[in-house]
Amino acid sequence: MLKVVKFGGSSLSDGTQFEKVKRIIESDAGRRVVIVSAPGRRNAGDSKITDLLYLCMAHIKYDVSADEIFDKVKERFIQIKNECNIKIDIESELADIRKEMDKGVSSQYLVSRGEYLNAKLMADYLGYDFVDAKDWITFNYDGTVDYKESFSKLQERFSVDSHIVIPGFYGMAKDGSIEVFSRGGSDVTGAIAAAALDADVYENWTDVPGILMADPSIVENPRAIPKVTFSELRELSHMGASVLHEDTVFPVRAKNILLNIKDTNNPEASGTFIREVFEDDNDDKKEKFITGITGRRNYTIINLYKNGMDRVKMLMTALEVCGRYEVTVEQIPCSIDSFSFVIPSESLENKKFKLVSSIEEACKPDNIDVTDGISLIAIIGRQMAYHLGISGKIFGALGSSGINIRTIEQGSDEINIMIGVATEDFEEAIRILYDSFAINN
Ligand code: ASP
Repeated sequence: MLKVVKFGGSSLSDGTQFEKVKRIIESDAGRRVVIVSAPGRRNAGDSKITDLLYLCMAHIKYDVSADEIFDKVKERFIQIKNECNIKIDIESELADIRKEMDKGVSSQYLVSRGEYLNAKLMADYLGYDFVDAKDWITFNYDGTVDYKESFSKLQERFSVDSHIVIPGFYGMAKDGSIEVFSRGGSDVTGAIAAAALDADVYENWTDVPGILMADPSIVENPRAIPKVTFSELRELSHMGASVLHEDTVFPVRAKNILLNIKDTNNPEASGTFIREVFEDDNDDKKEKFITGITGRRNYTIINLYKNGMDRVKMLMTALEVCGRYEVTVEQIPCSIDSFSFVIPSESLENKKFKLVSSIEEACKPDNIDVTDGISLIAIIGRQMAYHLGISGKIFGALGSSGINIRTIEQGSDEINIMIGVATEDFEEAIRILYDSFAINN
């Protein structure tokens, strides 16, 4: 059994968190490949190491001393070293980085040092080998990962060292320089390592009980989703649930590796399991069929009406105008003589009226109107498919609470029903859906 385990910044923010991580790793002999983020916040007012490093870079760029900020970075690592009684000479590693800063360092190099130093500390603490991400993750010239080369380099290394710690977030460009993923990229490092080594499980350890069924700022103490498929996860993330870095899924999905989100502060809880399909899905839970509910506020609806319209032609014309204005169209509900564009309001900033008059000019509708203040809610659940009456139940629950549904959309795979409501009804609608239908197994 091989488990690739990635720990996020909040799981590694100080010595106490390091101890928890060590206990987790030592409790399961399968946890032989460890990926670490840089230390995160210890409390609400604290800073993430990566943020401090970006700040150092900004100071260097404007020729202002970065010493004060870099001292804070130093302090954090030295404190972890002392709290955990780690022996490696992290001080000279820090001094080397400080010297590089004077020589005119690249931003990508500097911001990656949080992961580098943390992995050095963790490797020593666990008695594992340190494997630098720059020695195996290789980027193509276009910024994508060269999977073939990265996989074979890590496989080679793993055949020599069987217990390793890898810094997340970065790799090496073809010219030998350090290149980073976008923020949160250690998730991706873990996924690539899991795929390279054909791991049985990729465990992603964080500070929440898993992927939550709803936004905790709207629903009090929402439960973690026990099982979610990759397709459901995509829908959840698309509509705003903040889960994993979006590039995490591809490598593990391609190799059919089980992904498990776990809580460092509650390691016994099973967290959220993610995979392509769950063979043991229980079809009987028809009353509780929602995997997760998510949504976004602030959409605008542009509604066009024309008696006897040639819908395809008119849609093409109107979409072409939207394309010209670089406007994102999220949904297109239609009827025989009308259609609507549901558009994120922010993408219409400073061009709403110009866009509407251009559509009017190009399409010559009988009527065109605009409604702001719409929110979209995505109701996601693989158990909704092929069950009769699900949407009826959803609409019934909202209707009997006095919530008017403004738009409705369902994909043909039936895992997602998307509704539009007035923004003032958004939170209440989510609470009603959660209380009525969220799966509780
Ligand atoms: N430390 C990096 C960040 O804060 C990468 C990561 O944590 O995954 O974005």
